[in-house]
Amino acid sequence: MNSLSETHENLCRICGLNEHHPIYRVLERMYGLNEEFLYFQCVQCKCLQIENFPEDIWRYYPKGYLSFATDPSLLYSKPIEKWARCARDSYAALGKGVLGKWIEKIYPAPEDLKALSHISLTKQSKILDVGCGAGTLLYLLCEAGFSNVLGVDPYIDRDINYENGLFISRQEIQEVEGSWDLIMFHHSFEHMKDPLKVLQSVSKLLNSGGSCLIRIPLVSSLAWEDYGVHWVQLDAPRHFFLHSLDSLKTLVRKEKFHIEDIVFDSDEFQFWGSEQYKKDISLKSEKSYSVNPAHSIFSQKQIDQFRKKAVQLNLEARGDQAVFYLKKE
Ligand SMILES: [Zn+2]
Repeated sequence: MNSLSETHENLCRICGLNEHHPIYRVLERMYGLNEEFLYFQCVQCKCLQIENFPEDIWRYYPKGYLSFATDPSLLYSKPIEKWARCARDSYAALGKGVLGKWIEKIYPAPEDLKALSHISLTKQSKILDVGCGAGTLLYLLCEAGFSNVLGVDPYIDRDINYENGLFISRQEIQEVEGSWDLIMFHHSFEHMKDPLKVLQSVSKLLNSGGSCLIRIPLVSSLAWEDYGVHWVQLDAPRHFFLHSLDSLKTLVRKEKFHIEDIVFDSDEFQFWGSEQYKKDISLKSEKSYSVNPAHSIFSQKQIDQFRKKAVQLNLEARGDQAVFYLKKE
């Protein structure tokens, strides 16, 4: 799938190797635009990266794009639901609370929230979410009692002031001020043009002892090996960098971060999404599993098998995404 003979001379933006790297021709598939973008994979650090940044990248983030699509306040319209969510989410983020633990067993919390339980946080911790979209994760945290949180995203139309006090600012991390206990990127880091500059900002903004969490897709995965340019998390042209374990380690070392822990959290999406792309079914198509599961090409049994396969791959450190927990050296 991935053995191609075309190479171009490029400077790897991560490890700095100037070399002839293999080229991949990747189509925009989420919206089925089928526009082609060139990516190269560094022969040394294995980071897969877009060859040229599109000048009109804003065009590929239309209204309704993933995390901009939902109003999180709608999740709290019924009082009993609000109470249950708050107990569950408080437990999911902090790992404390008997009632929340019980609710979480029946109604699992979102993975991005559960990823926080690996860090020692309190409800007073200062948390910055970079590339937060409409701020759903922060909204959940606010409702669960976290009082010092801020979200930033340059792709939102305007600043958002929620009734519960949450503020989402239309800005880049370079414009943020203050000091933070946790700075987190949930599937946003791979969208940024200059990851080293972003890490420099993190370094400046992080409290001593503070943590940085980066949740990203990984090219050092079975999904990339098996599906190649049909791999759903390649997501051209929005994803500029698809890191390998090695390339992320190389990058963070440059800014004197070390990786404290890596948790693989890939799921069934890597399989059903990539299978759809192989058959030319876009993510937003009427036939897509995410849009219309009953009319998709998959049976429930297949989806269950994909889920089991993902759990196994995560154990083998071969799933197509992971959470990286960083600290300053
Ligand atoms: Zn490289």
